[in-house]
Amino acid sequence: MRGSTPRSTWRPRWKSRTSSSPGLKARNTKKCVLCSSKFDFKNIRYYCDSCTRFFCINCSYSQWVFEDQDSEEKERPVCRCLTCYKKIQESEENLRQAMSTMNFHTVDKALNAIISNNIDIDVKLRHDADVCHLKLERELDIRSFIESVAAVEDYKTILKSVKILNDKVEAAKGLNVDLD
Ligand SMILES: [Zn+2]
Ligand SMILES: [Zn+2]
Repeated sequence: MRGSTPRSTWRPRWKSRTSSSPGLKARNTKKCVLCSSKFDFKNIRYYCDSCTRFFCINCSYSQWVFEDQDSEEKERPVCRCLTCYKKIQESEENLRQAMSTMNFHTVDKALNAIISNNIDIDVKLRHDADVCHLKLERELDIRSFIESVAAVEDYKTILKSVKILNDKVEAAKGLNVDLD
């Protein structure tokens, strides 16, 4: 059921980007931000979808990405500078590794690093991570609950033991046995 899975609240920045973004003011950029090669009719500039700056073809990487977590095929073309591309790849790898540990705190940390730094990771991976995060969070919650119940059971066992002890004491008194 689709409704049962959490939908990502995170959206790529390009959807909410406004014309006042600092990167867009650099429209007149004449050189590649990374290698400083001059732009001309042979050296065409490419706009990085992530950091919104301009790069030459050698310092940028174009790829097709999934638009939505339910997408069957990659349908959105994006261009990223090599710095952003590398950062995204590393974040995705870090998140995959965190998810493989099945440890809530590890996944939480990796996911939070991506959210707080607004890194445009693959939407499907992001969705899987959200599902994994929620599952681990619930499991952790249930585990803590079981542990607290176990503590209560210990308490009941103590009470029961106390009652058994009292019964034994009373039984001993009935038999005129003096206990210290
Ligand atoms: Zn360049
Ligand atoms: Zn970039």
